[in-house]
Amino acid sequence: MDVAIIQKIITQLGSAQHPVILTHLRPDGDAYGSLLGLGHTLRERGAQPQLYVEGGMIPMYRFLPGSDLVQNLPSSLPENTDCLIGLDTSTRERLGQKTTSWTRPIDIVIDHHVSNLGYGTLNLIVSEIPATAGVLFQIFEIAGWKITPAAATCLYTGISTDTGSFRYRGTNAKTLQAAAKLVELGADPSEIAKQCYLSITHERHALKRLVASTLSLKDNKKSAFLTILPDFYKKSGANGEDTEGIIEEVISIQGVEVGSLFEFTQDGGLRVSLRSKGNVDVNAIASSFGGGGHKAAAGVRFAKDAEKNHDLVLAAISKALAS
Ligand code: 5GP
Ligand code: MN
Repeated sequence: MDVAIIQKIITQLGSAQHPVILTHLRPDGDAYGSLLGLGHTLRERGAQPQLYVEGGMIPMYRFLPGSDLVQNLPSSLPENTDCLIGLDTSTRERLGQKTTSWTRPIDIVIDHHVSNLGYGTLNLIVSEIPATAGVLFQIFEIAGWKITPAAATCLYTGISTDTGSFRYRGTNAKTLQAAAKLVELGADPSEIAKQCYLSITHERHALKRLVASTLSLKDNKKSAFLTILPDFYKKSGANGEDTEGIIEEVISIQGVEVGSLFEFTQDGGLRVSLRSKGNVDVNAIASSFGGGGHKAAAGVRFAKDAEKNHDLVLAAISKALAS
């Protein structure tokens, strides 16, 4: 971690009165956990932060304290904004279409995606920390800022979900120390686990079953992939956010080194999620198509030529497995 950058970030965050905090589209537990964790901490310090994300809050994460503070992205930035912050978002575009017309630069980027090239004025990208919520925790510790039970719950949720419940490579002693500290500060591990992992809706479960039935294996069963077709949503009653976690179904199979999920969208596009057990760098594969992420979890989306790109990604996976 770059101490000089952290100090500059602490100074700017600490003096902002009307900060605006953003995170990535199709937000996950780390996106919401980081957004709210920073929001709570800055509020505690007397600021009035605005928390925005494309689509607002999704039902699954409404249990997070303060979730009603999360609002849908507005078309223009509030005029009194004195600090614009992007969290957990590897590229400028992933902050959302509406933000692209905003003229203010992103003042601070805090992230852990290895593919993040730094599109902010100040950039803190720590790929050794497995969740952006963990990067925020370190910043708050260094700053000596109070972490309330609400903030601790949000940050713990971010770390738990982005490490697959402390299972993925990247989880180390520091991760567990941060989690332990957050529990001391008020996060409840079993309640958070219940909300994140034991509360899927019947619609999400129905979607999961439909998607599981598409399983295909290739490359000596080292590559496994799933498909989502547009009509799966109507059939199951689920919606876009319900795809989170489905890919774990394939990477959890013994011997599978790369798992992928191909979602064919109504408009002819293709959304690809990639997971690796660690021997294949899926960030390299996603990046070669213009996407990104981490070594073990990455993604890319294509606006058109869905079938062709589906085949190209599978071929790239085969090539990576053969090398
Ligand atoms: P997921 O498969 O859960 O959607 O995403 C896995 C990881 O890849 C996340 O860290 C996410 O930020 C990154 N990722 C997913 N899709 C894209 C994409 O289209 N572009 C980039 N740059 N990163 C992506
Ligand atoms: Mn993250």
